[in-house]
Parts: sequence; structure tokens; C-alpha cells
Amino acid sequence: MQENLMDKMVSLCKRRGFIFQSSEIYGGLASTWDYGSLGAELKKNLKEAWWRATVYERDDIEGLDAAILMHPATWNASGHVTSFKDTLVDCKGCKKRFKVESVKGKKCPECKGELTEARQFNLMLKTHLGSVEGEGSLTYLRPETAQGIFVNFQNVANSARRKIPFGIAQIGKAFRNEITTGNFTFRSREFEQMEIEFFVKPGDDEKWYKKWIDERFGWYISLGIRKENLRKRPHEKDELAHYAKACTDIEYKFPFGWSELEGIANRTDFDLKQHMDLSSKDLRYFDDGTKERYIPYVIEPSGGIDRSVLAFLVDSYREEKVRDEKRVVLGLDRRLAPVKTAVLPLLKKKPEIVKMAKGLTADLKKYFYTIGGKVVYDDTASIGRLYRRQDEIGTPYCITVDVKSLEDKKVTVRDRDTMKQDRVELANIREYLGDRFNKRKA
Ligand code: ATP
Repeated sequence: MQENLMDKMVSLCKRRGFIFQSSEIYGGLASTWDYGSLGAELKKNLKEAWWRATVYERDDIEGLDAAILMHPATWNASGHVTSFKDTLVDCKGCKKRFKVESVKGKKCPECKGELTEARQFNLMLKTHLGSVEGEGSLTYLRPETAQGIFVNFQNVANSARRKIPFGIAQIGKAFRNEITTGNFTFRSREFEQMEIEFFVKPGDDEKWYKKWIDERFGWYISLGIRKENLRKRPHEKDELAHYAKACTDIEYKFPFGWSELEGIANRTDFDLKQHMDLSSKDLRYFDDGTKERYIPYVIEPSGGIDRSVLAFLVDSYREEKVRDEKRVVLGLDRRLAPVKTAVLPLLKKKPEIVKMAKGLTADLKKYFYTIGGKVVYDDTASIGRLYRRQDEIGTPYCITVDVKSLEDKKVTVRDRDTMKQDRVELANIREYLGDRFNKRKA
């Protein structure tokens, strides 16, 4: 099951419209992906769940949406121009490029051709602003969203009148010219990050570092990832990024092995100090109470939306036997499910049933506008088939309207996981679903 789970997932994602290869009609663009109608919903729901947990449910974090393009000096200050590099070798025969650590011996791992000397290769994507190309117009597509937060540290602290400890949260695109690719969306060249920079008093950093590791680990579990598939892995000293004093990865047991979902790093005062030096602006924090001025330390939980989407998809996938037939289910948490409820008429030949089902769909669409999420109507197949379609994309509830509904004004609600059916008064259906969608899993 594990070996071909990735193949099944890639195929399900394409067939049902979760994820497509980017620019597929031109043969595709390596390691870039497009999210289809269901993928876009799942991604949006995941971002909402993160924003809710970090910005709305806490009272010590502000949100931010900074530009992708930044002043090029940012990347000198952050160290990315000099340090964000992989050491690579090229094959003189097949021209493929490899990370030096992935090559054993002096031959190309694919064609056994001769390799060039190792060279440093920066992972940032370059671009030129304005109408003239040249060094003056050079900047980069951001390789992490974090720097947008650091350069706005004072803007946010002052405008929101924040006192330390507090954090800034941001979701946004990041770009890296990755060499090792593959494993579907796991390592993409364009991806989205969800990052928090949490500013603390120097000395309090280790306490907050531990807190954030537990907090973020718990978030994945609370949204349904199975505990046995998640682990914390502290970095060895020699694998720490240039800015970090300590880092712990939260790893997920993907079918291709344990791999990083999120990193929680103690970035110390590295970034603010660097920006202070390069911009000549005083970015120190003034503590009203103690009358001290200091550069805060920063704890950074930095996760990837795309990797999380993939982990939630893989983790929730299951195959069952029901009455000798295979049932594929995505057991996604209700908050993540791309379609919240599907309304399915049992007899589409009867106009009164169709009318009732469409009326219910329209009403639920309005209702779900306030509690969030997509409601669909489908009458294009037999009921067994319609259920299977919804199970496979993780729809938590299907509602059927039948001949009896016309008399008793009741509909049947089927639960995705238990397949149990409840007969519910049409007049109570909003309340019935509302209770279930607002009820959080422990
Ligand atoms: P890796 O070691 O896997 O390259 P990283 O340690 O370089 O990742 P970070 O710089 O810590 O990654 O970035 C924070 C998060 O951003 C990662 O935990 C991951 O979820 C996400 N991320 C980083 N690079 C990519 C990528 N190429 N594709 C998708 N997500 C990514």
C-alpha cells in the first residue's frame, strides 16, 4: 500500500481536480504545480485553519501580507546572497546537475559520465525591475516570507501598539530554484509558506522555542494527522542554517520517508541586527517598564502549505471494503474538506424532488457563506456512484432528497465516516450541520 500510495495520490489529485502539473499542455514545467477546484478549496481551508489558530485564537500575534518583491539590500542583509547556496556538480555527458552530497564517487549517477568540479549555485530566482536590465535593476523573488516580517517589525509593533513578547504571522509565496526535485509537490520551485516570527526578550528565547515546537506539533494533530506519522527532529549543529542557534523539524512519515513539514528555529537577533547594520535604522525595542533598549530574539515556526496539503491528503486516504466493493475515502477533518455538503436527489425524474433539492442547496450555500465552505448539488449518476464520488474527495455529509421528503419534509443525512444515516427535518438542517461543523475535534 505504502509504495503505490503516492502514485494513487498523484492520480486521484489529477482526476478529481486537486492538483495539476503546471503548463501541462506544453509538456509541463518541472516542480511547479497548479491547484484545481478541490485543491484550491483544501489549500484555502488549511490556510484559514492556520490563520485562525495563530492570529484569531491567540492574543499575541498580528497578521501581515508583505510584497513578494523586496529591496535587494534585504537579501544582502539576510545572508541569502552569500549563503543560500547548494554545492553542485554537472555531468559533462547528460548535462544533469546534482547536489554534491547526493553523488557517490566521481561519476554521474545516471549515465556514469564525467562530472565537473563542484560549484556553488544560489537558490534564489533573479528578476529585473523596470525597463533597463543590469545590476541596478536586479532583485529576487523572495526565497522565504520571513524577511517581509523583519523589515516591518517596527511598523507592526508601533501601529498595533505591541509589547514584547508578540509575533507577526504571514502566509505567502516563496520561490527557490531547487535542484533535487520529485516527490510530487513536496519540493516545488514556487510554493507557499506559513510563517510566524515571534519576538521575545533575549534570555526568554529558549523557553519560547520549546513552547512553539509543542504548539505547532499539536496543530497538525488537532487537524487530524495521525500521531504515529509525526515526529520532532532536532537539528545537529552542522546542519543549522546560517542564522539559527537551534532548530527542530516537524517531520511527517510520507510514503517516500520521514521528511520536513515545518521547521521551528531560534533565529536569535541575527536578522534584525543585520537589517539595522545595513539600513542604519535603529530597530531596537524600547521596554517601557525597565527602560531598556534591546534587539529582540526571534523564534520562527516556518511551515509549508503545499507540504501540509500533501501530508493531509496522504494521511487521510483510506481504502475499505463495503459490501464487497472497494470504497476510497479521504477522511479529512471537516474544517479542511473541500466540499462541506453535497445534496443528491434520489429521483431526478421527479421535478418536485429536484426542486426541493435545489432549493435546499441554495439555502445551504447561503448558510455556509457564514460558516465557510462549498456546497454542491449533483444528480448526474446513481446514488451509489454519487456517494463514492463524494467519499473520494472527503465530503463529510451527503444529503439525499427522496419521494418521502415531499410528504414528511425530512431529508436523509449520511455521515462519510460511519455511513450512518439520520432523517432530519428540513427546517432543522442548518442547525444539524452547524452543530457538526462548529464542533472541533479534540
Ligand atoms: P528542505 O531541507 O526540505 O529543503 P528547508 O529546511 O530548506 O527545507 P526552510 O527553509 O526551513 O526549508 O523552509 C520552511 C518550510 O518551507 C519548510 O519546512 C517547508 O515546509 C517549506 N518549503 C521549503 N522549501 C520548499 C519547497 N521547495 N517546496 C515546498 N515547500 C518548501
